[in-house]
Formats: sequence, C-alpha cells, structure tokens
Amino acid sequence: MNDQTALFDALLDSIRDAVVIADTQGHVVRISRACEVMLGGSALSDKLDALVKRAMAPGNGGRGQGLVRCGDGRERPFEIVLSAVNGEAAFPSHYFGLVRPAAVEVEASGQELVRFGYDSLTGLPGRELFVDRVDQAILQASRLGSSVALMMMGLDRFTLVNDALGHGAGDRLLIEVARRLKMCVRETDTAVRLDGDKFALAMVIADMDDSVIVAEKVLNSVKVPFALDGQEVVVTFSIGISVFPMDADSSAQQIKHSEHALHYAKISGRNQYQFFSKDMNRKAKSRLELETRMRRALTNDEFVVYYQPKVSADHGTIVGAEALIRWIDPERGLISPAEFIPVAEETGQIEAIGSWVLWKSCQQNKQWQEDGLTPLKVSVNVSARQFRSRVLVDTVLDVLERTGLDPKWLELEITESMLMNDVDTAVRKMTALRELGIGLSIDDFGTGYSSLSYLGRFPITTLKIDRAFIADVDTNPKTAEIARAIIGLSRGLNLEVVAEGAEVAGHIQFLRDHCCDTVQGFYYSRPVPADEFEKLLRQGVLVHI
Ligand code: C2E
Ligand code: MG
Ligand code: MG
Repeated sequence: MNDQTALFDALLDSIRDAVVIADTQGHVVRISRACEVMLGGSALSDKLDALVKRAMAPGNGGRGQGLVRCGDGRERPFEIVLSAVNGEAAFPSHYFGLVRPAAVEVEASGQELVRFGYDSLTGLPGRELFVDRVDQAILQASRLGSSVALMMMGLDRFTLVNDALGHGAGDRLLIEVARRLKMCVRETDTAVRLDGDKFALAMVIADMDDSVIVAEKVLNSVKVPFALDGQEVVVTFSIGISVFPMDADSSAQQIKHSEHALHYAKISGRNQYQFFSKDMNRKAKSRLELETRMRRALTNDEFVVYYQPKVSADHGTIVGAEALIRWIDPERGLISPAEFIPVAEETGQIEAIGSWVLWKSCQQNKQWQEDGLTPLKVSVNVSARQFRSRVLVDTVLDVLERTGLDPKWLELEITESMLMNDVDTAVRKMTALRELGIGLSIDDFGTGYSSLSYLGRFPITTLKIDRAFIADVDTNPKTAEIARAIIGLSRGLNLEVVAEGAEVAGHIQFLRDHCCDTVQGFYYSRPVPADEFEKLLRQGVLVHI
C-alpha cells in the first residue's frame, strides 16, 4: 500500500459523510467508516450495489433510492447521489456516491410509508425508526468523538385546534408543522413524528450551541401563523433536550431524559426549550406530588370558597362578591390558587374543581337569600379549559336548576386571552351562556392582548379593570389616564365596570371621581370565608378597615 492509498483511506474514514466508491460496473469497492456506521456493520459494501446501479441507470441523473439491508437484518430506505471520478482518462474510472437515509416522499402511498416505518400523515419517520436512528447517531457520535442532541417536541394546545376546527384542520396543521421542522434541520439529521402532536429531532452535534440554534429555529418557525380554513392559527412548541454522552449513555435513557425535559418545558410555561438536568427531576417530582395531592383534595373536602365583597364606592354597601377558591392542605396549609389553578388547568382537574366552585358558590348565594339577606350577584372565575369545555353551558344550567338560584345573581369571570384564539366560537359560547340569563365579565382587563375591535362583538355585561392599573392610579398620571379610558370605554359600550385591587383611600377617591362605582379590594375587605362574609353582609355598610 503506497502512501497515497493510506492517505486516501484515512481521509475517507475521517469524513462524517456516508460515502461509497464504486467502479464503472456499479460494484461498490469501498465505503467510508461513517457509511458503515450508518448501515450498522462492516462488510456491507455489496448491499449497496443495487442502489448504485439504479443511480447509474440512464436517465436517473446519478440519483437512486431503494431499500438496503442493514447490519441488523432490517431493510431501510436510502438514497444516493453519484458523481463520476474521471482521473486522468477522458472516461470515468470510478464513481463517488453520497448515501443518506431516504426522505420518503409524501406522495408514496400511506401503506408503503407505514411499511417502511414512516408516519403516513406527515411522511416523517415514525417511532420505530426513531429509536433506530438515535442508536445510529449515538454510534456515529461515539466514533467521531462528538455528541448527539435529542429534542422531544410537543405542540402546545394542539387539542384546541382539533376541538375548534376539527380533525381535518388538525391534520393539515401537523403536515405543515412537519414541513417546517424539516426546514430547520440538516438533511443528515432525523426529524420524526412520534404520535399525536409529538415530534422529535436527533442530530449529531459538535457543541451545545448547535442544539440551541436549532431549538430556537424550531420555536421561531412555528410562531409564523398557520392558515387553516381561512383562519390564522398560532401554535407553539415545548422542547426538551438531552445530550449524549453528557446526560445519557444509551438511546433509551436519552429518550427518557428528553421526555423529562419536555415535561419540564411544559410545566414551566410552554413555548420554550429546556435542557435536561437532575434538578429538573426533583422539580417535576414535587409537581407530580402536587397533582396527586390535588386529586385527593376534592374528595377530602380540602377546598374552600372565600368571598371578597364588591362594594359601591359611593355608599360603602356590598353589591356583589367574587368567589375565590382556597386550598387548605393538611400538610402545607393554605396554598394559593395562583399556584395550583395552572396545574389543575394543565392536568384537566380544573373541570371537576371548577364545577365544584360553581356549585358551592351558587348554593351559598341561594342560602343567603333564603336567610333573608339582600340578594347579590356572585362572580365565579372560569379558567381557559373550563371555558373551552363542551359541557360548560350544561354544567351552569344544571347548577342553577339544582340550587334554584335565579341566573341574574350569577356572573362568570373570563379573561381576554381565552377569547382571542377563536373569536367566533367564543362569541357562540358566550351567547349561549348569556341566554341562560347570567352575567359575563372580562377579568383582568387591559393585561391580555385584546383587540378592541372585538370587544363590541362579545356579549359581555362587565369589565373588570386589572389591579395593575389601580395600584398607582393615584400617583402615576399615565396609569390614571389608562384607567380613565377603560372606564369611559365601558360606559360607551354600556357595560358595568369594576375596579379590582383598590387598597388605599387614594384609589377609592380616584375611582369615585371618575364614576367607577363598583370597587373590590383590600381597602374594603380581603377575601373571607362564607361565615365572615355573612357578617359583613349583615353589617350592611363597609367602611375602611
Ligand atoms: P382574579 O380572578 O383576578 O382574582 C382577584 C385576585 O386579586 C384574588 O387573588 C384576590 O385575593 C386578589 N385581590 C383582591 N383585592 C386585592 C387587593 O386590594 N390587592 C391585592 N394585591 N390583591 C387583591 P387570589 O384569590 O389569590 O386569586 C388569584 C387568581 O386565581 C384569581 O385572580 C383567579 O384568576 C384564580 N382563581 C381564584 N379562584 C378561582 C376559581 O375558583 N376558579 C378559577 N378558574 N380560578 C380561580
Ligand atoms: Mg376574577
Ligand atoms: Mg382579576
């Protein structure tokens, strides 16, 4: 072996691409180390002959696709691109080919795709091929001394699209997502659809920055709205990343750790990527504990409804109340709804908890009326998932019937963000609720992304100014101007307006001066248990406490 041949061999084995050298008859005479790794074993050169011959056939332009039996005995689709090596002669002496896993075209029949282990909807490899590809990537990385980044990706709130626009639109969204994903990665990387709204990417990387770049590319690429049935739909991804060999020493472990990281990205607020860390496991565990304890809480009677008065600023009389849930955990004591409502929302427990709050507060309100207290409207918060639920209207109707409460004494509080995703469906749902005879309020108004042009379309009765605008209304002229504008807007639209979070006399003075009569806040009272609220009701007028 002369120096040149040795150099050539070393060169061939050091490049990362899967390369074959074939003679003019189409026999493969040499394959690169990376190609061996990709096919899963040595001495596989003859298995590629058919592929090379197909590419050499007239009219194929040096390209070929076909099944190749790999080292583990399984057939997988690969494609090859050949170039002629002319040497000193006028005719080619050899061919040089680049081999890679075939990106099976979506036009192939569904059955064919499935047979090859591909997802028939998106044309991406499916779960079975995925494990295999991760194994290959790990093998390749081990030889090359590089790393493998494995990204697990879940579309956030995909069920929302399915529920609102139907499965056909959901499928079209997934196809488009798959197309965009493929554009975020190199041809040699693997993009996979695992199931439902779950995708994954596996890639050999030189350093960690590579995975950050790709994760950001993916997040940005789905941010561009999708056009489905004439509607613009915005979705986001949550991404969990783990890296071989840093976080895992096998494909099974790496897949598991990426799943953990994905779960963590979801509970940390979605639309983000998270790298696997041991600490994340601890946090996920404590979150799981919260979920388990919350499941028990309903049957163990650990939830309580507190009531916070809504007061007429002019007269100091109680004109309504907001029902606010409290969780008194036997071990942890009082847990704030800000901590557990988002978790209940995520897990779906909110449906049961929300129905319970609705039932409890209507029953309590009816009881106060039967006890001869002045009737008042109780407002109940509804979370996004409850609002989306198909049974919301029926649940409200059922609660009203069972408690015998006149619907005019019930109001539901919803936030702007729940309405903006799918305005038409929201309007229909709100109309159905209004037809029951109950009131509808927009909570935390001014903090969401409300489009004022929609406000007129929503059949609401009340606007609640978010407490962020009330906090410094007496000291900050700009906030005061915003609060004034919201009050004016409500009046123009003939809506009741409620200010929340009034804490000091200056707030009350401002609101009174600007004709916002209904005020809720610590200035008058904190949320209190039902029996204490009853005492306030009997006392009649609330003065500053
Ligand atoms: P929210 O509906 O905007 O409720 C008002 C929150 O502001 C309450 O917090 C209340 O205690 C607080 N607040 C009232 N006046 C003042 C004040 O003068 N100053 C300050 N700093 N805060 C004031 P809470 O009870 O902790 O509830 C937090 C959020 O949790 C609620 O915000 C609501 O979004 C959610 N939530 C509470 N109960 C329920 C429920 O039964 N179902 C659902 N889906 N969500 C609920
Ligand atoms: Mg509220
Ligand atoms: Mg609020």
